[in-house]
Amino acid sequence: MAFLKLLARNRLALAGLIVIWIVVFLALITPLLPLADPDVTDTPNRFKAPFSEGAVLGTDHLGRDLLSRLMWGTRLSLAMGVAAAIIAATLGSAIGIIAGYFGGRTDNIIMRGVDMLMAFPYILLALAIVAALGPGLMNALFAVAAVNVPFFARNIRGITVGVAHKEFVDAVRLAGMRDSEIILREVLPNVLPVIVIGMSTTVGWMILETAGLSFLGLGSQPPQADLGSMLGEARSALITNPHTSIVPGAMILIIVMGINLLGDGVRDALDPRLKSGALSRPMPATEVDRRETTRAQTDSLLDIAGLQTEFRVRNRVYKAVGGVDLHVEKGECLGIIGESGSGKSVTALSVMGLVASPPGVITGGAVHFDGDDIIGAKYEVLRSLRGRRVAYIFQDPLATLHPLYKIGDQLIEAIQTHETISKSAARSRAIDLLKSVRIPNAENRIDSYPHEMSGGMRQRVGIAMALANDPDVIIADEPTTALDVTVQAQILSVLNDLRRERGLAILFITHDFGVVGQLCDRVAVMYAGKIVEEGPTDAVLRNPQHPYTSRLIDCVPTLGGGQRKLAAIPGLPPVVDRLPDGCAFADRCDKVQMECRSGAIDLAATAPARKTRCLFPENTQEASA
Ligand code: ADP
Ligand code: MG
Repeated sequence: MAFLKLLARNRLALAGLIVIWIVVFLALITPLLPLADPDVTDTPNRFKAPFSEGAVLGTDHLGRDLLSRLMWGTRLSLAMGVAAAIIAATLGSAIGIIAGYFGGRTDNIIMRGVDMLMAFPYILLALAIVAALGPGLMNALFAVAAVNVPFFARNIRGITVGVAHKEFVDAVRLAGMRDSEIILREVLPNVLPVIVIGMSTTVGWMILETAGLSFLGLGSQPPQADLGSMLGEARSALITNPHTSIVPGAMILIIVMGINLLGDGVRDALDPRLKSGALSRPMPATEVDRRETTRAQTDSLLDIAGLQTEFRVRNRVYKAVGGVDLHVEKGECLGIIGESGSGKSVTALSVMGLVASPPGVITGGAVHFDGDDIIGAKYEVLRSLRGRRVAYIFQDPLATLHPLYKIGDQLIEAIQTHETISKSAARSRAIDLLKSVRIPNAENRIDSYPHEMSGGMRQRVGIAMALANDPDVIIADEPTTALDVTVQAQILSVLNDLRRERGLAILFITHDFGVVGQLCDRVAVMYAGKIVEEGPTDAVLRNPQHPYTSRLIDCVPTLGGGQRKLAAIPGLPPVVDRLPDGCAFADRCDKVQMECRSGAIDLAATAPARKTRCLFPENTQEASA
């Protein structure tokens, strides 16, 4: 159903569907219609013009009724094309799945055979097959199917190779499932959409090819009509009686156009990547749609004031970031902490306009870097800042590094993007960078590919790349989440040293209070797109004021803390397209009061350097004492 809805949204595909539906319907009911016999010749009445008495579309060179021949011919051509497509898809897919699934020698032998078929020019091969088998409808059908087998075999083999090495296939193999069963139950369902897409986009071709063979007299034999043979017979009268060629020609055009429009629509609707619009290119910088500009609240190096970012997905609006105020000084490390989905990454990406648009839109606030507002700045300005003055480190270094380039080349590219410098100079800079993030044997490791390194080493490369242009601010989005604890400690100490040596400002995003305690001077706690508490790390850890913060801290195990049961916060964060009125945490808070559920609650100063967005903050006496 969802598939039909998607298809119907595509106007052209819908038009194709309607055309094809009409043609197929007419072809199906042809035997029931009161048509003249298509094969009865009536030479005295040859070449009658269209719309003449007794022959709506006129007659051909033997006086046969063109309308009747057209209907029967369309029926035959459609059947031939669809049959050829089904045969080619079945055979080709079977070959492709077997080659791709078993791999190795099986794959080699099968695919070389397929390659041999592909080495012949397409239509020539079909002609050769018909020549060998002798002309005739069935032989033409086989020829067309045969020349299309390699197309399916190659396509499906590629997809199967990808699927056959996925974890879920390994899992059922370990569970003892037989190969034939795995192919039918695990592989086939995953390649089926591709087969359907392949068929829907090639049926048109196959109709054309069978028509082509019939046109040359190798397909359907007289007196039987198909669209190709009708065109072939009309060839000699093309100038004198053009209607005999135009009638079948127009029908071929209509059918193939309709099928191709429909086929493209089916492909778009079935392909999950196209469906989500992932292949539509995002804009180079996040779209900005804000009413008024906001002034910087501090004169820090990086000042985020009232930042609002939302996602507009069809008729829904997800307010991922709802007015965030933050500032980072030179040489300072600010931690942002919060549960998954609280808007940390979107905040970080908004700073340099990196949120994908569509669907992301920055709807309010300002980000002042070194005194200038960079929200809505020209793309050239953003581009020169990105990587040179504000650099990012992301969570998964395997996803951020290009798998096909050596890490050295990627570092050199990062350096050369912002600086005109010779390749050898850039290379020695890259080696120094790798040394500065404590990669042992940097001179040799620079020529490694990302997959040759461990997770910890890869993340060091990620940090080295962020440092490549000596930035002022590094925004690290959960850089240690994918790593184990010992490697995490090493990475944190690398970052901490770099900050002290270079006076870097770091915006460190994490969901782990332990990490914040080790690295950050100040911490901001985020919940449902808003900062709920902010202050010096020590003070916040010792005297959390927002109930959410204290619950988060309770989730961290303490060494020597005895056998305490670890607390988990019940419930889930609110969905950001339907935020409740009042405090977003109210539903999960055990200190909730009536007042918490209405009106906006401000981030209020509760003590020097501390702010809390709570009507009934905890631990306020201790904090001011
Ligand atoms: P986190 O704090 O875990 O980094 P994010 O900043 O990635 O969270 O996400 C914040 C919110 O924005 C989440 O609720 C998420 O559902 C929403 N969001 C993120 N990307 C999109 C998107 N492309 N479309 C719709 N909503 C999104
Ligand atoms: Mg995130």
